[in-house]
Amino acid sequence: MRIILLAALILSCGPRSGHFQTKCGMIYKGYFNSEEVGEFWNEQRLQQTEDEWLLAMTKTTDPRLNSMDKACAALKDLYVWVQPHQACWDYHGEKICGQTSCENNQVLIGDLYFYASALPHEMVHIAQNCHTPAPVDTLRDAYHGNWDRDGIYKAIDTIGTALAADYENSFK
Ligand SMILES: [Zn+2]
Repeated sequence: MRIILLAALILSCGPRSGHFQTKCGMIYKGYFNSEEVGEFWNEQRLQQTEDEWLLAMTKTTDPRLNSMDKACAALKDLYVWVQPHQACWDYHGEKICGQTSCENNQVLIGDLYFYASALPHEMVHIAQNCHTPAPVDTLRDAYHGNWDRDGIYKAIDTIGTALAADYENSFK
């Protein structure tokens, strides 16, 4: 009886059940500045996103991304926050659905179905440490400077498609 009681006490002091971590160490934190967990994510979906992302990144020609080991290591201790009840929001006059802070190793994503989220996009910023090699591709900015020529945008597109298929298959 004493042992059971102790176990219950330890469990109640542990992390909130809504928090979970992937194999590479990405940590889901739930709604930003809130105790709410959000409805579109769970441990399996976060892991699927990581798995599909790692696989897609091997198809790019950016050396920081196309090695599974390097790309995985870049995700360690990355905090994933969700914008409470908002798919997209205004940021200095621009509508965005995801935001990255490389300094704080965290991303904020819109409250969207997991396969439609900006998370894979923001994970690239983290893995590149918010810095792309020169030159900047035509019509892109410095934060996405090599995303066309190194096949990163293309790779991100395949992740959404793969995740949507995983989701469909989960009902079969
Ligand atoms: Zn971006």
